[in-house]
Amino acid sequence: MQIDILIIGAGGAGLYAALSAIKENRDLNVAVLSKVYPTRSHTGAAQGGINAALANVDPTDNEEIHTFDTIKGSDYLADQGAVKYMCYEAPKIIRALEHMGLPFSRLNNGKIAQRPFGGASKNRTCYSADKIGLVMLHTLYEQCIKEGVKFLNEWFMLNIVHNGKRVQGITAINISTGEITFIKTKAIIIATGGHSRVYWGYTSNALGCTGDGTAAALRAGLVLKDMEFLQFHPTGLRKSAILVSEAARGEGGYLINSLGERFMSKYAPEKMELGPRDLVSRSIMMEIREGRGFKDEEGREYVHLDLTHLGEEKIKERLPQIRELAIDFEGIDIVKEPIPIKPTAHYAMGGIHTNIKCETPIEGIYAVGEAQCVSVHGANRLGGNSLLDIVVFGNIAGKEAVRYAEATNFEKGGEKKLKEDIEFIKELMSKESKEHLGDLRVELGEIMFKHFGVFKNEKEMQEGYEKLKNLKARAYENLAVEDKSKIFNLDLQSTLEFFNLLDIADVLAFASLQRKESRGSFYRDDYPKRDDENYLYHSMITRNSDGSFNYEKGEVDLSLYAPAERKY
Ligand SMILES: Cc1cc2nc3c(=O)[nH]c(=O)nc-3n(C[C@H](O)[C@H](O)[C@H](O)COP(=O)(O)OP(=O)(O)OC[C@H]3O[C@@H](n4cnc5c(N)ncnc54)[C@H](O)[C@@H]3O)c2cc1C
Repeated sequence: MQIDILIIGAGGAGLYAALSAIKENRDLNVAVLSKVYPTRSHTGAAQGGINAALANVDPTDNEEIHTFDTIKGSDYLADQGAVKYMCYEAPKIIRALEHMGLPFSRLNNGKIAQRPFGGASKNRTCYSADKIGLVMLHTLYEQCIKEGVKFLNEWFMLNIVHNGKRVQGITAINISTGEITFIKTKAIIIATGGHSRVYWGYTSNALGCTGDGTAAALRAGLVLKDMEFLQFHPTGLRKSAILVSEAARGEGGYLINSLGERFMSKYAPEKMELGPRDLVSRSIMMEIREGRGFKDEEGREYVHLDLTHLGEEKIKERLPQIRELAIDFEGIDIVKEPIPIKPTAHYAMGGIHTNIKCETPIEGIYAVGEAQCVSVHGANRLGGNSLLDIVVFGNIAGKEAVRYAEATNFEKGGEKKLKEDIEFIKELMSKESKEHLGDLRVELGEIMFKHFGVFKNEKEMQEGYEKLKNLKARAYENLAVEDKSKIFNLDLQSTLEFFNLLDIADVLAFASLQRKESRGSFYRDDYPKRDDENYLYHSMITRNSDGSFNYEKGEVDLSLYAPAERKY
């Protein structure tokens, strides 16, 4: 198979990139390859909204304030030029989405409604009740179909292939037939989403958020940036870790401890529940640690998110999905009772290193979306900024890939990787499994949550790292695919995803051990202060053939605002 521009991933990032590519040059062959049907990508789970300084609710808002809020929220690790670009593009891209037909919630005067969100100093988050991601994904998918983008649905990318200078293609498996193929390309855009599933059992992310593209990039010698930064969202449901959107606090929800106190008054006296996510997550865990949380019969610890004072009408209008989720997964009607919540692993700030044009160091390989690290979120992302990031940079990635593909031919070679992948899968399919994938996955999540959770320290992390190495060795030794069939073999797919998660966990742990400070989402009890003198840099990691890592320091763009202490 031969495709000019192949986009891997059909979430908001991949679809926007495809749309922008095909509109740029209709003579090129643009296709999207996705392991799930496009409209089931994790973008569809986004609830709260997307940020843009439209100033529809608060006329004093503007792009500059949005830029500053984002940089402050990032704990000064974001690249400031990239942030500025994103925030100034935001109003334009919201209008573009609106013109495509995205049904935003409206104010009485007909303008797009905007709600308050964590870490934002103005009401800036555009929304569609609590289903923004769903409507965005469907709108973009319709547009892609309309414009003639081709889709390879239910195809799984295995590896990225290049010759050290330029991309040659990818290897992939057609899930519906089990056939493994090499796809030749002029350019690829990796839009495979985040990797919070590395915290299996403790995450808000869909089952498919296994960092496949990020792990493939690591194997292909590309640079992974800032992998130690993984955001915990403050409010996941107690039992399932499913997300309760920040919109719940944006609309006025309170966080309450077992003494009945609105404890955020201690930690963020001004912003209260609408402090940034890193701070609110830590505050919840601190209450629990110090004995002011609740504990259920199964020993799960949590605090309350109380929305009862908002009243039935507002809840039904603005937060209908959250109400359904709480009824289905906790048996609680939020109109009448507070929701038991605890922090949940939610968003990967780190990912595949690119410049502002979404280029990686290998020609013809681009990355975008949650899989990418530009970086616009630094050490902590603000709610509503990811959906913005994926469309703004999706737009760029599409155009840049076109520019490159127009000027190049298909690169020869690359089929060797196909043989290796076929061999690897053959072995997995022929061995007998000595352990169950399900058990190992749970074990991975437990290790990550315990040793690389909201609070970290040297001893815990070292212990965790040893456990991870052991788990990885066991998986490679003992794990095989138990289902031997070819058609829709989800056992095979899950096993491959698990190997990707192990690669991700490895880098995440390694990167965490190198950073001896606390910044944004990354918090260490043994180094509780931010240390700009020694650690104001991006961690840049590549992997050697023997499995060891190279660690380099990347410069942070501080061209707009000097680092200052964050207060909320
Ligand atoms: C529950 C939840 C709520 C959220 N709410 C908000 C919000 O309100 N506002 C906000 O700004 N952000 C929110 N976020 C974050 C935001 O939704 C995500 O960061 C963003 O949607 C990621 O988009 P993406 O296109 O990069 O990846 P995804 O939407 O995750 O898409 C990844 C795509 O890659 C494909 N893929 C992955 N691996 C492979 C492979 N090996 N082969 C082939 N295809 C592959 C998948 O099939 C999928 O199509 C939320 C996240 C979650 C989990």
